[in-house]
Amino acid sequence: MSSENSVPLLSQKHSGIPENLLEKAQNAKALIYETRTKSSSTRQRLPVIPQGIERGKFFQALDELQQVLGNENVEINDKPLVDGWYMEHPNTHDMMPILDDEELVASAVVYPSSTEDVQKIVLWANKYRIPIFPISMGRNLGYGGAAPRVRGSVVIDLGKRMSRILDINPDDYTCLVEPGVSFYALHETIQAKGYKHMWIDTPDLGGGSIVGNTLDRGVGYTPYGDHWACHSGLEVVLPTGEVIRTGMGALPGNNTWQSFPYGFGPYSDGIFSQSNFGIVTKMGMTLMPNPGGYESFMYAFEKDDNLAALMEIIRPLRIGNILENVAQVRHAIQSIAVKGKPRTAYFSGEGPMPSEIVHEYLRTTTIGDHAWLYYGMSYGPEHIRKYKLDIIDQEFKKIPGARKVDPATLPKDEYFWSRDRIAAGIPDLVELLWVNWVPNGSHVAFSPVSPIRGTDAMKLFNMGKRLHDKYGIDFFPAFCVGLREMHLIVEIVFDKNDSKKRKAANDCLREMIEDAAKEGYGEYRTHLVLMDQVAGTYNWNDNALMKFNERMKDALDPNGILAPGKSGIWPARYRGRGWELTKSSGNGSEGNGVAPSMTMKL
Ligand code: ADP
Repeated sequence: MSSENSVPLLSQKHSGIPENLLEKAQNAKALIYETRTKSSSTRQRLPVIPQGIERGKFFQALDELQQVLGNENVEINDKPLVDGWYMEHPNTHDMMPILDDEELVASAVVYPSSTEDVQKIVLWANKYRIPIFPISMGRNLGYGGAAPRVRGSVVIDLGKRMSRILDINPDDYTCLVEPGVSFYALHETIQAKGYKHMWIDTPDLGGGSIVGNTLDRGVGYTPYGDHWACHSGLEVVLPTGEVIRTGMGALPGNNTWQSFPYGFGPYSDGIFSQSNFGIVTKMGMTLMPNPGGYESFMYAFEKDDNLAALMEIIRPLRIGNILENVAQVRHAIQSIAVKGKPRTAYFSGEGPMPSEIVHEYLRTTTIGDHAWLYYGMSYGPEHIRKYKLDIIDQEFKKIPGARKVDPATLPKDEYFWSRDRIAAGIPDLVELLWVNWVPNGSHVAFSPVSPIRGTDAMKLFNMGKRLHDKYGIDFFPAFCVGLREMHLIVEIVFDKNDSKKRKAANDCLREMIEDAAKEGYGEYRTHLVLMDQVAGTYNWNDNALMKFNERMKDALDPNGILAPGKSGIWPARYRGRGWELTKSSGNGSEGNGVAPSMTMKL
């Protein structure tokens, strides 16, 4: 497959590419395979058996599941691990591993077609105490992709056979989707129905699922960019097999499940995001009204430390909604990396690319030299946009050397136009190009949350820069400004075929997490390998929050079968047995086995 130009289409496969992005996908694929030196594995392997279950019993259990779901819907993972690329991603392992390929790997993958199938799988897992790990699309790249945290878990690939858009309501601006609906698919469907009055919100890449992205609290770039805040209503299979509907969904005959998220009583949705407390089989999402016009803008700033003044200017404008979307403030080197060429096209030395080379190159580009670029979008009819854009212009230009880049001067393939589409809710595929910066390019993110303040931005910037220099890694910081906080997103791009580079990435991340926590910054999301460490930084009052999570885990999942270790939450059977991956734990993902479960009888 790798050498061919073919890319699955959305019309052929739930995870495919829409026809209008096909050429872009083919080009992206060609660039990725040009820099790939890692040979595609042909190594025959035995399936990894999860801890606590004997090999013979495991296969007997899988046979039983095949009887329930059909042979073709239970696949044993005994084939070579093929990484593929974004549009042809594996569902058996992390295609961008920081640890050895065989660490975060599934024993088998199963394909339910309905909520009832998911219930059956859950009951089966309880019977045999086999860990299961749900994915919707499995494209959570940079955070573990489709991989389970516990080696040998059975991955439940919900997306393949549960990919229906169950409802689009053009009057209420809402929809109800199954786990396999990608941002591409929802966008295409809304277009095909001719609903010009509704927009979706999309992350940087549109191939992820709405359910998976929202549950992991991913973001997009329209005013509806906080996906979790914009969802309304879940259907969830609990780890013991019961099904619940949250919010208004609990009221039989309701017609407000997708329009009022809270219902009555405790708001339970929260415990199903970034957790291992349930498997979501349906989710409601609100859609944005077409604002009647939009206009992207970009400002360039000359110096690294302009960042401090810029943040002070951004804060009141963002809270006051003059700046209306999650804007990105991206550092110079990313303007080069996003063109998709390897860094050796610019610099062939070891260690971080010297800043003089970055700026020397930028001087030759249409945008010209800069330290930071601000990408933003103004919404509404022209006279309304003008009111806001004039204020922004006046404020941003208080920074010496700040200049507005005229979009009319930018070629059609300039990255600016990709940001333009995304901030207008049109899913794209350009963002992944910077992965080609190094051969076998993979990425993993460090994403601390801070207030929108100059001092915080500079502190995080300097800390990240210092540690990237220490580990010889190019520093790719981008600040994404929410309403009252910002996430710094630092993507470490590394060669997954080079164990030294993987280790440098891991060590750098662990040190950044530790140093950030000392200053009061915590990550909003993280890779499977780093979850224990990140969860460990949220330890106020003698780890009170984790103790609460563990109590809930044990009550909801007495046999500890659902995604053990996800978000650092280990069920009782695994606890105290060395499963945590931390700075000092070494890089083996398996602890000392599991305790036999005494609790549930089926
Ligand atoms: P994407 O759809 O963006 O590719 P993934 O399917 O990789 O996202 O899932 C992202 C994260 O959310 C993973 O940690 C996964 O375990 C969790 N997740 C995804 N879908 C579900 C679901 N339907 N129920 C519970 N957890 C889920």
